[in-house]
Amino acid sequence: PYKGPDYSDVLRLRHERLNPSLVTHFSQPVLIDQGHMQWLYDHTGRRYLDLFAGIVTVSVGHCHPKVNAAAIEQMQKLCHTTNIYLFPKIHEFAQRLTDTLPGDLKVVYFVNSGSEANDMAMMLARLYTGNFDIVNLRNSFHGTSPYAAGLTAHNTWKYSFANGFGIHSASNPDPYQGLWGGHRDSPIQSVRAEESEVVDGVCSSTDKYIEQLNEVLEYSIPKGKLAGFIAESIQGVGGTVQFPLGYLKKAFELARANGGVCIADEVQAGFGRTGDHFWGFEGHDVVPDIVTTAKGIGNGFPLAAVVTTPAIANTMSKALHFNTFGGNPISSAVGIAVLDAIKEDKTQENCQKLGPYFLQKLAQLRDKYPIVGDVRGKGLMLGMEMVEDKNTRKPLNAQAMGKIWDDIKDLGILIGRGGHYGQVFRIKPPMCITQADVDFTVGVLDTVFEKACRNM
Ligand code: PMP
Repeated sequence: PYKGPDYSDVLRLRHERLNPSLVTHFSQPVLIDQGHMQWLYDHTGRRYLDLFAGIVTVSVGHCHPKVNAAAIEQMQKLCHTTNIYLFPKIHEFAQRLTDTLPGDLKVVYFVNSGSEANDMAMMLARLYTGNFDIVNLRNSFHGTSPYAAGLTAHNTWKYSFANGFGIHSASNPDPYQGLWGGHRDSPIQSVRAEESEVVDGVCSSTDKYIEQLNEVLEYSIPKGKLAGFIAESIQGVGGTVQFPLGYLKKAFELARANGGVCIADEVQAGFGRTGDHFWGFEGHDVVPDIVTTAKGIGNGFPLAAVVTTPAIANTMSKALHFNTFGGNPISSAVGIAVLDAIKEDKTQENCQKLGPYFLQKLAQLRDKYPIVGDVRGKGLMLGMEMVEDKNTRKPLNAQAMGKIWDDIKDLGILIGRGGHYGQVFRIKPPMCITQADVDFTVGVLDTVFEKACRNM
């Protein structure tokens, strides 16, 4: 049973003693006391199916026994800073992690958060190329540290200080809300599929978005002097946005032709979540020069990493660089255990198997309800874009979104939200969920959407 302070005291302290910028989900926030695999338990002992995994952070399951055991074992042996002596775990983890990556992506620097990882990726791109300018995509989220906040292209997360110096945003290749439609690499084709002509597996919208990217390179950057291009392989916070077929491959080619390196932000899409591949970018048939990862790498433990090639990594040896906790013995032990758990529990296979099933079921809800505009995603990184009207694609208003979100929670399921207007429901559970969990979810969504439409 729960032994902590009263719900009302916790809520009061949150208002009085925690920074007001913190996001709190639901009109009546849940007080979470315990977790086990795909389940969370509140202070009353009520169980929730966690379909957001603390924003994609818990990869193999809450309090996964193997991961917890590894952390505890290491904690009882040694807690220390990372890098001034040799200790075995960080080396073993470096090898295990880089073994999962293709090509020359074989050198890692461990940090503690996704923002730190993207800060370092920007720095590496600039050091290696000797150039300064970076191109990102509108609607992307890459962190909130002053450096990374410049990469995050949503005004929801912006303060008015100079955080985007040298960063230029290209139009977001969003097949649903973007300027042009397009196919995406998904079993459920975009509702704009019919609007885009596909020739040899490439759709016409891809070229239009690439032209627009080229325009940014032509007009905003000294000729041929790009430092880097950064993109998520599926936008997470932006609302599970998948790019049209072939976009990322062409964008990488264009960035390199302009002197830049390519950075894949795998903070959400990595570690098997997309099912078909271990890394999200592999689904786009590209090999980046720098890969950043966080969240799922530590299954809830603060851990992140930047992996790059020896040549790019070497540019950092011009000065010393230090990170007290990045890759410390406990983080490294956790990281190794997560990789073991992904393999032993076959979580990537589970994402591959359940993803299409889940998406088909969500597509049935899309076809049934006027407020579900689009369903998309890959593996267990799924999204449902909610609309007022399927023709105009006007985002469902905040009040209706909030009510539906609360109702889903009240029936025992926690999901996330994203998109520029908070109009996308995001489903990114711990990768251990079962088909019964999917069926339960679809039943709950059906009930809640039916009620929402009835009351509109
Ligand atoms: N990149 C992506 C794609 C993210 O989703 C996030 C966090 N939502 C970050 C970077 C930043 O990670 P952190 O919060 O650990 O700094």
